[in-house]
Parts: sequence; C-alpha cells; structure tokens
Amino acid sequence: MDSIASRLRAVRSTLPADVKLVAVSKFHPAEDIAVAYAAGQRLFGESRQQELTAKVAALPADIEWHFIGHLQTNKVRQVVAAADVIQSVDSLKLLRTISAEAVRAGLTVDVMLQVHVAREETKFGFLPEELTEAAAEALRLEGVRLIGIMGMASNTDDNERVADDFRRIRAAFDSLAAGVMADRKEFTEVSMGMSHDHAIAIACGSTMVRIGTDIFGSR
Ligand SMILES: *Cc1c(COP(=O)(O)O)cnc(C)c1O
Repeated sequence: MDSIASRLRAVRSTLPADVKLVAVSKFHPAEDIAVAYAAGQRLFGESRQQELTAKVAALPADIEWHFIGHLQTNKVRQVVAAADVIQSVDSLKLLRTISAEAVRAGLTVDVMLQVHVAREETKFGFLPEELTEAAAEALRLEGVRLIGIMGMASNTDDNERVADDFRRIRAAFDSLAAGVMADRKEFTEVSMGMSHDHAIAIACGSTMVRIGTDIFGSR
C-alpha cells in the first residue's frame, strides 16, 4: 500500500503550481494529518465542527483550516474560533450568523459562497442567480471577507456534464468578479474539484481543489 506521503506527492504532481490543494482530512485521525504535515502540506479541510475543534487543538498552529461541510448556525461560534476559511456558506442566515460571531470574537473570517449547480442532487448552496445578492450582503457585513466561491459537480460518470457544471461555477465566479466584486483583490478563489473529478475542474478554471480519498484513502 502507498503511504499518505507518497499519495500526497502523486496528487501534487498532477496540480498546476497556481492551484491550491486542500487536503480533506475529515474522518481521518490527527496522526494522518501529522504525516501529511510532515510531508509539507499546510492546508486541510474538515466538514464537522467537533472534529475540527479537536484537530485544531491537537495539531501545529501554522495549519490553515478550511471548513467545507454544511454548517448549522448553532455551531458557528466554534467554527469561527477554529477555522481560517469557511468555504460552505450556503444561506444568508448562515452568512449573517458568521458575521455576528466574528464581530463578537473580534475576528475577520474569510468566507466563500457555496453555489449549487449539480442538477439531480439535493445539495446545499445558492443558485447562481442568487449570488450577487449574497455577495453584496457579504460586502455590507463586518467580520467576513469574501474570497471566492465553492461548488460541486453532479455525481455522474458523464464527464461532459461534470465539465458543464464546473464551467457554470467558474462563470458564476467570473460574473461576480466583473460585477459586485470588481476591484476586490481578495476575491480570487474558485474552489472546485474532488478526488474523482479534479482534473476536469482544473481544466474548467478551478483555483483550489479539495482532495480527501486520493491522499488519505477511503473513509
Ligand atoms: C469530502 C469532501 C471532499 C473530498 O472528497 P474526496 O472524494 O474524498 O476527495 C471535497 N469537498 C467536500 C465539500 C467534501 O465534503
């Protein structure tokens, strides 16, 4: 069996230099993260609050933690305290709660808006046509800094359809970047692509991929 370090190297070798890698460590123990850390990885993704909080306490302070799971408003306080970036902002209510908790803690949290383009699944996120209003709200709120958008493609073997979903996520980013987010230098990230579809995502304009299984094995 390949080691975490060698799988991490193999994944990195497939990524262009300007595409960031979020190593998705959810459901894997802190020891596995420490192995990836020792191999140079500093950016990790978690999808549950309690797991994130425990791992942040157990692991080196220079890790950048991204929260990527559906976040309930009663967990926001702990996630704001633990995460560097919340990628999965999927409602105005959640956005406003993150702002309020960040202000309360005296912090500014980097956030990304989750966009829903996959067609048959019931996934969380804003529709592309709802993003302008959500981005405008993020600009009005204190304690949050909007740095990009995050999305997932349909879960299908049909690569054309997957590419079409990723192109729609990229187009949604471009339209915000040319519109309400124009002149916002911090608005740079298009987080899309997972273990099974990251090559397509990169071809469609991803700036950040979120990869778990290909690095840490199955969950
Ligand atoms: C689990 C997860 C990933 C990583 O998925 P893999 O298939 O293991 O690479 C990426 N993004 C989100 C939002 C996830 O929940």
